[in-house]
Amino acid sequence: MVRKKKRIRKDRVIIVCVLALVICFGIYKGTSWMIHTISSLLEPEVQQEVVQEKEEEKVKKYIATVVLDPGHGDWDPGANVNDVLEKDITLITAKAIGQALEEANIKAVYTRESDVSLSNNKIEDLKKRAATSAENNAHYFVSVHVNSFDESDEVSGFEIYKKNNESESLAQKIGKHMETLNYSKNRGIIDGGKSLQVLRDNTVPSVLIEMGYLNNKNDYSYLSDNEKLQKMGEAIANGIIDEVQTHLLKDSAQNNTNK
Ligand SMILES: [Zn+2]
Repeated sequence: MVRKKKRIRKDRVIIVCVLALVICFGIYKGTSWMIHTISSLLEPEVQQEVVQEKEEEKVKKYIATVVLDPGHGDWDPGANVNDVLEKDITLITAKAIGQALEEANIKAVYTRESDVSLSNNKIEDLKKRAATSAENNAHYFVSVHVNSFDESDEVSGFEIYKKNNESESLAQKIGKHMETLNYSKNRGIIDGGKSLQVLRDNTVPSVLIEMGYLNNKNDYSYLSDNEKLQKMGEAIANGIIDEVQTHLLKDSAQNNTNK
C-alpha cells in the first residue's frame, strides 16, 4: 500500500512538471510575439520621423536660392554652329553651376532641366522663366546663353547683361571669376533691364550671361567641349557664391543687429 501511494505521487509530480514546462514555453512564445508585433507597429513611425528630420536638415542648410535659366530649349535651339546647339550648351553649363551652388549650400532652381520649352510662344516662354524667381522666393536669377555674330567670326568674348544697379555687383563678380578661366576676353557689363524680357519681367537682381561667340574659332573650341563647360559653370557659380557671401549674408547680419 505504501509503495503504491508513493508511485502515484511520483506520477503527479511528473505531470505537474510537464504542465509547468508547457505553460512556461507558452508564456515565452506569447511574449516574444507581442514584442515583435508592437515593434513592427511602431517602426514605420520611427522611420518616418528620421526621414522628416533629414528633410528639415536639407531645408535648413540653404543660405540662398538662385534661379538658373538655361536659355532656349526644344523647338528653339538658339545659336547653331556645326550642329553644336546653344540650347545644349546652356543646359550643361546651368547644371554645372547648380551642382557647385548646392555644394556651397545655395539652392538651385532650374527653369528647365531637360530639352524642353516652357511654351510654344516665345514671349510666354520668357515670361514663365522670369516668373520662376517670385514663385520660389529666389534671391537671384541667372540666365545663360551664347552669342553668334553672322557678320564676322572675329568677334569673341563674354558679356554680362544686368537688370538694374542692384544686379551690378552680381554681374561684376561673375565676370571676375569667368576671367580666371583665361579662355576669352571680358567684353564687360551691359544694361539689359529694358531690352531683354527675361530681365525686364524679373522681380529679383538678375543677369544674363552671353558666354562667348559660337561662330568664333577660339570661343567655339571652348563652348563645344563639355569638360570646359563644367569649368565655366564652376566659375559662374563662384561669382554667385561670392555675391551671396559678401552681400546677401552681410545684409542679413546687418538687419539682425539693427532689430
Ligand atoms: Zn540665346
